[in-house]
Amino acid sequence: MNALDRLTALFSRLPGIGKKTAGRLVYHILEGDPVYARTLADELSGLHGAIRRCSACGSFTETDPCPVCADPGRDRSIICVVERAQDVPVIEESREFRGLFHVLGGLIAPLEGIGPGNLAIGRLLERLRGGEVRELILALNPTVEGDTTALYLQKLVEDMKDAERGPAQVEVTRLASGLPVGGDLEYADRLTLSRSFRGRVKV
Ligand SMILES: [Zn+2]
Repeated sequence: MNALDRLTALFSRLPGIGKKTAGRLVYHILEGDPVYARTLADELSGLHGAIRRCSACGSFTETDPCPVCADPGRDRSIICVVERAQDVPVIEESREFRGLFHVLGGLIAPLEGIGPGNLAIGRLLERLRGGEVRELILALNPTVEGDTTALYLQKLVEDMKDAERGPAQVEVTRLASGLPVGGDLEYADRLTLSRSFRGRVKV
């Protein structure tokens, strides 16, 4: 394998990039300005060093805590639970939400061997035990895994209320329909997302 084939193989491992597209990208870089190739390589190699996960919410950030968690203007009584870190900027862009986030790092999917223990659920409960949170908005995709995870979290919150005679009366809500069924939060347009936030329903 020469350098060209090696880079093509690496690119084709990216989501949505087939072998053909990977080849096109590599030729594009090869025929372009070498400065661009070097900048791309530098940014890639520095990525994991520059960006880490926020120790509070789990989203990607250059500073810990992240700018959202550190912002005194955010409403600390509402936590919006999302599947992946990349869902956070999508919701931020809708400008509908002024609370805090919590990134689960996936959804419960027994067939794929992903259980609650693989997700950042323990840390979420810790945040709820702080007593400040009044509402948990589940902004999970309307898929089987999203529904399973939502039910599981709702049950956990109920159990917690029973066990601790709830100092925190946490209400669990879910984004209203309007999101494409089986679709992806990432592809929801801003207006749809704003509507689903305003029309969120108790679960
Ligand atoms: Zn954060």
